[in-house]
Amino acid sequence: QHANYGRIDGHIVIIGLGSIGKGTLPLIQRHFDYDADKLSVIEPNPAAAEFLAEQGITHHQIALTPENYRDVLTGMFPEGKGFCVNLSVDTSSLDILKLCRELGVLYIDTVVEPWAGFYFETTENADRTNYALRQKVRDEKAANPGGTTAVSCCGANPGMVSWFVKEAMMTLVADLGRDDAMPTDRTGWAKLMQSLGIKGVHIAERDTQARAKPKPRGTFVNTWSVEGFISEGFQPAELGWGTHEKWMPETAHSYDTGCQAGIWFERPGAITRVHTWCPTPGPQFGFLVTHNEAISISDYYTVGDAANPEFRPTCHYAYHPSDDAVLSLHEMFGSGQQQTVHEILEPDEIVTGIDELGVLLFGHEKNALWFGSRLSNEEAKGLAPYQNATGLQVTSAVLAGMVWALENPEAGIVETDEMDHVRCLEVQRPYLGPVEAHYTDWTPLQDRWELFPEDIDESDPWQFRNVLAT
Ligand code: NAD
Repeated sequence: QHANYGRIDGHIVIIGLGSIGKGTLPLIQRHFDYDADKLSVIEPNPAAAEFLAEQGITHHQIALTPENYRDVLTGMFPEGKGFCVNLSVDTSSLDILKLCRELGVLYIDTVVEPWAGFYFETTENADRTNYALRQKVRDEKAANPGGTTAVSCCGANPGMVSWFVKEAMMTLVADLGRDDAMPTDRTGWAKLMQSLGIKGVHIAERDTQARAKPKPRGTFVNTWSVEGFISEGFQPAELGWGTHEKWMPETAHSYDTGCQAGIWFERPGAITRVHTWCPTPGPQFGFLVTHNEAISISDYYTVGDAANPEFRPTCHYAYHPSDDAVLSLHEMFGSGQQQTVHEILEPDEIVTGIDELGVLLFGHEKNALWFGSRLSNEEAKGLAPYQNATGLQVTSAVLAGMVWALENPEAGIVETDEMDHVRCLEVQRPYLGPVEAHYTDWTPLQDRWELFPEDIDESDPWQFRNVLAT
């Protein structure tokens, strides 16, 4: 018996039936009441037609564009209510979110996605960052506070990991024998992080899912959107920049407008490596791929003035994707050519592996705490159809975000840091496999290559200077 989270009135429109859309659909069918004839999917790929026809779901075979999205979407929500679930690439989250709020339709997405062309045709690197994309959503929130709820960036990461940060902080509070009450607002959370002595957070992920067949040459293999990963991998490396940092790479740039929580480098994220730690491998390399949460978390936990804060944590993604994806990146950057064949590992072809995705809170009294989901593909297959472990960590966060939006329909534009993490994780947890806390005494000063002197700061283990691999 699956939990029922109530009724969605009006039309439900899912935009994009890729790996995430296809995995989210059965969770919506399972957990909400709605009028079946009001559920439809926008998906330009004709390959989706048969799958949707079998389920009796209306398929709008159309690609949204800046020119057509208003007419298309307005026509799909004739009653001025409903839910728009945006799980596509190449559509503007901001434009669609604004329209949905105008229409009184609830909205959710998993990334601040731009219209097609943005990632490779924007000439200024500063404008191709997630900082720039996110800031526009934050500016819209500031200009038009309140109103119909629109949840921005509610996948696994960005998304669930923001709830994990809070859960991990409360775990640390308990394990340190402190009696801090759970904070109830942003200032309280930021002050708690500061008082715990946390210097920063890695979104530390190791994906070990693999299939039996070796990666074919000329094919990009991933466990989620290949297009999405290539786009973000070619964006500049980017991170939230903490107040404890004493050194900055020479190619770093900061901002003097907006939240000012982030910096970016003149280098693609997917070839920029960082030293990090996950329970399965222990110390490992991750890629400093830019992500919305790197900026949102550093922003959310800032104490004091944006331009001159008293406290701010460093925060970034440290991603070791599946081995096939690592090989795919190596091949792509080595050749300077994007592969034309794209494959997303299907749950039934994966023979081994888990997606270990968590947050590594570091610099505090107990050194470092990893808190996250260690979901295997085997377990994921038994929990929900059409998705691997990576997919289920994302789609169950979408489910949780939808439940929260239904329960808080007039909350305006929100990020996951601003939502009730206890409620969201309560909804999501049945889909996450083992959710565990692991302490480690590892720091980025350990396990280096002693025969080669490095330009590091041995006086302070958690400096980004030590985390960045040269
Ligand atoms: P995918 O590539 O498998 O699917 C994307 C779908 O969007 C495709 O089916 C494609 O045909 C469709 N599409 C392309 N252009 C469109 C347009 N103009 N209008 C409507 N649909 C269009 O990607 P995915 O793995 O399903 O990921 C979907 C989105 O979710 C991506 O933006 C990705 O970055 C994001 N994502 C977020 C997280 C997270 O944890 N926050 C994780 C995975 C994916």
